Amino acid sequence: MQYVSTRAAALAAASSSQQFSDILLGGLAVDGGLFLPTAYPQVTGAELDAWRQLSYADLAFEILKKFATDIPEADLRALTAKTYTKEVYKNARKGEKASQITPLRVLEEGENGTKLVLQALSNGPTLAFKDMAMQLLGNLFEYTLAKQNAQLNIFGATSGDTGSAAEYAMRGKQGIRVFMLSPHKKMSAFQTAQMFSLQDPNIFNIAIEGVFDDAQDMVKAVSNDLPFKAKQKIGTVNSINWARVVAQVVYYFRGYLSATTSNDQKVSFTVPSGNFGNICAGHIARMMGLPIDKLVAATNENDVLDEFFRTGVYRVRKSSETYHTSSPSMDISKASNFERFIYDLVGRDGDRTRALFQKVETHGGFDLSGKPGADGDEFKLVAKYGFKSGKSTHDDRLNTIRDVADDYGIVIDTHTADGIKVARENLEPGVTMIVLETALAAKFNETILDALGEDAERPEGFENIEDLPQKFVVMPPDVEKMKAYIAANTGL
Ligand SMILES: *Cc1c(COP(=O)(O)O)cnc(C)c1O
Repeated sequence: MQYVSTRAAALAAASSSQQFSDILLGGLAVDGGLFLPTAYPQVTGAELDAWRQLSYADLAFEILKKFATDIPEADLRALTAKTYTKEVYKNARKGEKASQITPLRVLEEGENGTKLVLQALSNGPTLAFKDMAMQLLGNLFEYTLAKQNAQLNIFGATSGDTGSAAEYAMRGKQGIRVFMLSPHKKMSAFQTAQMFSLQDPNIFNIAIEGVFDDAQDMVKAVSNDLPFKAKQKIGTVNSINWARVVAQVVYYFRGYLSATTSNDQKVSFTVPSGNFGNICAGHIARMMGLPIDKLVAATNENDVLDEFFRTGVYRVRKSSETYHTSSPSMDISKASNFERFIYDLVGRDGDRTRALFQKVETHGGFDLSGKPGADGDEFKLVAKYGFKSGKSTHDDRLNTIRDVADDYGIVIDTHTADGIKVARENLEPGVTMIVLETALAAKFNETILDALGEDAERPEGFENIEDLPQKFVVMPPDVEKMKAYIAANTGL
């Protein structure tokens, strides 16, 4: 399986393609594009039938081996077996089987043949779906680095979910250190405790005196110093990482196969969306031949994606125009994985994709509506790819959390609430709608308290997490001090 940049011209693409392991530790392609396979591997009906009975780990192996053709199969099988265990995904609710890794729960079967189902993706160590991919990435990194006798220093900024998922995936791993910046005293007490209570010597929590953007700017400044970056072996694990996307493809297959008994049954997915990483994996599953009916992107007040799927206009927001909402992991001003879908939408034309995303830099967006003066008319093809969308607000979130607690007796988190709200608007007779549960409620307790007047239940082991000893350093937003701190701790 060869990979190519979404911005590569056709000729260049043929000569510069790379394998899975080559792109595993990198981020963007050198031309600024994102990596995609030169063609999506296909699955047959017979394969789907055979896969219906597999464990999650075995299913992950079958799917990954189509993408990671340069990793020996026995090694890949060992990696997926080690990653997807009931010990890692132990935070299942009562009534869910942890061994299913992403258990389904039927919420409602309507008289008119509609069905609403929740797929739990947040039973991993940090209670958010980012564990699904990040845990695999940790094991893949360790495996690859050991083979190359190399080391990697992961450097990033977080406002919550990504940073903790990365730390829990990389803790104690050979050859890997994590330097994670977060805004000092700006994360919730729970999120802070989750990250800072890690005592592993390879995890470095750095609280920056400032807001998230200050921390993010420091990451950019350090990463732009290429000699420093090379010497210190700095890498990232952000949402454009291809292996993360592939790992996410697996649970769409699991959801479809668990919800059906034959491949002519119709299933749609609603996905609480921010950077378009999660739903992009759904798109890839569909392109591989998984019979997904609709892919519904649910956004919060930051409705960049909903606007595109309603109008064909992609208009990124300034960071000053980004709302801070009660589903904070979806507070994005532009969707970093969106380019992967646009590349397919414009017929895998790298020149065209490059021009469109250059226009995002120069003009803040592009218009594919086909109206006079637009940049193209491909919006008319969006329906062919099954995409739909909807939007949810703070009030919708509170109401949905209350409704779901009343009607089905379970407490959902704020992001999942955005998903359920939008899913309900898109139910169709004869179609099972699976909503991806992207976090557990305990992570966003402040809003649960507002909605229900009581605290969200915490999974076992998280009861007194705020009381655990914390390991972190506080630093001013000073790039030179940051570099000195990294160098002192890597010894490179
Ligand atoms: C990251 C995240 C999302 C958004 O996922 P994308 O892949 O960025 O679209 C939604 N919900 C939660 C809880 C998250 O952590």
